[in-house]
Formats: sequence, structure tokens, C-alpha cells
Amino acid sequence: MTEANHTARTLSVDESFALACDASDPLRGHRDQFEIPAAKDGRPSVYLSGNSLGLQPKPARDAVVEALDAWARFGVAGHFSGKHPWYPYHELLRESGASLVGANVGEVVTMNSLTVNLDLMMVTFFQPTKSRFKILMEYPVFPSDTYAVKTHLHHHGLDPNNALIIVRPRDGEHVVRTDDIQAAITEESDAIALVLLAGVNFFTGQVIDMARITETAKSCGCVMGLDLAHAAGNIPMSLHDWGVDFAVWCHYKYLNSGPGAVAGCFIHETHAQDTSLPRFGGWWGNDPDTRFRMHLQPEFVPRADVDAWQLSNPPILALAPVRASLEMFQGVGLPALREKSVRLTGYMQYLIDQLSPERFEVITPRDTPARGCQLSILVHDRPKALHRDLLANDIVCDFREPNVVRVAPVPLYNSFHDVWRFAQVLARHDRGS
Ligand SMILES: *Cc1c(COP(=O)(O)O)cnc(C)c1O
Repeated sequence: MTEANHTARTLSVDESFALACDASDPLRGHRDQFEIPAAKDGRPSVYLSGNSLGLQPKPARDAVVEALDAWARFGVAGHFSGKHPWYPYHELLRESGASLVGANVGEVVTMNSLTVNLDLMMVTFFQPTKSRFKILMEYPVFPSDTYAVKTHLHHHGLDPNNALIIVRPRDGEHVVRTDDIQAAITEESDAIALVLLAGVNFFTGQVIDMARITETAKSCGCVMGLDLAHAAGNIPMSLHDWGVDFAVWCHYKYLNSGPGAVAGCFIHETHAQDTSLPRFGGWWGNDPDTRFRMHLQPEFVPRADVDAWQLSNPPILALAPVRASLEMFQGVGLPALREKSVRLTGYMQYLIDQLSPERFEVITPRDTPARGCQLSILVHDRPKALHRDLLANDIVCDFREPNVVRVAPVPLYNSFHDVWRFAQVLARHDRGS
């Protein structure tokens, strides 16, 4: 099926349509590469929570077992022995990690977890002065990001009440307009030190115009940072070309690398190569040539790339599933994933559009570039009952207070039939049962 004939005109609410889409889906084979939690009747459940915790790719287990076996077999010599020696292990993720976010090799490293990386990035990139000390974010902000930002402000003796700017949607609207973000930056262009936005908003699923906003922020002399927790593995990006200063993301949502997986971090080359920047250090950020001189090398000599921000030697058992998953992404390619994602999410929107708008209101933008996999559905009537019913029907999705159901059909393992089954439950509620 081509993009051209997959328009609202030819979409259909019939089950046969969903099955036909699956039969002609060039990516359909990848579903078999995942462990899909079984429903009570033994059938695979309809898993629409890939925006929260991606499913386990089967190669992840092999990668972990391989690391355990190497440890058993080689002990400390595993750092330099076996199929994937541990010492250079994180380099196995370098290219696949960089291509995921549109970065050059040397700009992306896999380390820590998201919030830790955000904290480390603010150590380097939030350098408030008397006149330029504010941080700009957008509403709604994920709590962990709020806590990291507020504690950094306190750490610098600043009061979030006047140092934190939150750009909000206009009255009656659900998502923030790009123009309003740009206007807010321009309005306080001399006072804002850091613009820190989510590439894809966790609550609304909105994709912000990262290129345009970065351009505005940079032209105002602000540092541009991105939280890509819901963007990485979901939509294609060009962090290097856009001139983003830094970005952080996790690998357990769309990137299927397991609960609490090791996270990603991007630092633009112009900064990554600058060894004079302030930072927190550890031996794995040190120049490898002198790293093992140990106590004979008391001065920290940072590497001239993003690896300089690594503190510790990486957790190999935790990196193993990330490696397996990123290899999978690299094999399929983001453009193919995005193409299917646009169709899959478009199909879901179409099915919701057949229901009563006074019951179900999709607050995620309709515009393709402004959304990824996720649709956030505002449920006007008995939202919790609907969510309970979805779960009872083996549809795995989440509920965000006060009345939003978030669903994310993901192109690697979800099918059109999954989306159809989900919509059946909504349709039953729509008829009032
Ligand atoms: C998922 C998510 C996090 C999670 O932070 P961790 O440090 O990985 O626990 C943080 N910020 C945003 C925006 C998220 O969506």
C-alpha cells in the first residue's frame, strides 16, 4: 500500500481493512522480534504503552547473556577479551546512537540515566550571570525535569519564582504554539540563559519545531537544551545541523532497552571539543592515554569529545540491551519507521474521528510534523471507567490525571489490527455502554 492511496478517503472502519494493512506492511516481520505480554486468553495484548516502557526485543536477552558469559569465562580479562570486550563497549553504540538523533560521531554518548545527564548538562551549560540567569521551559513539564531545574536554580542561589519562565498554551488550547515560545524567548532575550524544552511533550504528544526554536534561542544568545525522552526513536531529528547545544534522552521508551536503561546524551561538537568548559569529572572522561596512570595522574585531562562527560566505567550488563536495540533501529532505519508511524497514528486518529467529538477529543496536534506516535485523548465522560475497560480488554495504555488517556502505536511492533482493537473499546463507550 502506498502513501497516496492511504488517505482518509480510502481508510475504513472495517476489521478487514486493518488486516489488509498489516498484510502489506513491509515492517510487519519485526513484531516477531519482540516479547509481547500475553492477555488472559493467551493472545498477545494490545500494547500501546511503548511511550512509557518499550517492549523487550528478543536479541536483548542474548546480549545480556553474552555479557554474563564473558564475565563468567574471563573475569577481569573480559575488559579486553571475548566477542564484545567491555573496555570499548560503549563505542559499539556510538554510530547507532548518533544516527538516531542526527548527530556526528563524537557528539553522542550512552551513559547514566536521563535526569542525571540533565543535571550534568546544567553543570556545564547553565552558567547564570547577574543579568542572564533565567531558564525557559514549556507547560506541562515532566516532574523530574522541573525538580532538576529548580534544584539547580536553588544551587545558584536563584529563586524559581523569578528565574523560571514557563510558556503555556493559550486559553482554550492544549498545546503551546511555536510562535509563543519564540515570542517568550525574544521578550526576555537578555535575561534567559537556558531554553530547555521537550522535543515531544510527554503529556500532549506534541512535537515542537525544534529547528525554528533553536534558531531563535541561539540568535538571542541563549543556550538551547532539549529533553528527547519522548522524541528519541520516535521522530527523525537533526541535532547537529539545527545547532542544538545539548540534549538528553532515555532508552527505555521508544528505544526498547529495558526499565531504567542507560540513557543518551548529545553535546554539540563546538562544545564537546572545548576542554576548557566547566564540568564534573571522573576517570572515564579522562584522556584514555593517561587514564590508567591512576594516582600518578592527579590532574583531570578531559577528552575532546562528548565522552569527557562520562564519569564512570559503563554498566556493561545494562548497556547490552541498548546495543541490541540500537542495532535493530539502525537495521530498519528511522525513515521507514517514521513512514509507518505516520500511517499507524493517522489510522488511529481516523478511527477516533468516527466517534463523538464531545466524548473523545484528541489534544495531540493533527498536523503530521507536529506529532509522533502518541495520541493523547481527552475523555470527557467517565475517563477512569474507560481506562479500566481498556485494561480489562487487554489494551495496555496509560491514564494521566485528570482525564487523558495516552496511547502510542509504535511502528516496530504494533499492528493496524492493534489500533482497530483499541478503537472497538472506545466505540462501545461511545454508544454509552
Ligand atoms: C521519561 C522521562 C524522564 C525520566 O527520567 P529518568 O531520569 O529516566 O527517570 C524525564 N523527563 C522526561 C520528559 C521524560 O519523559
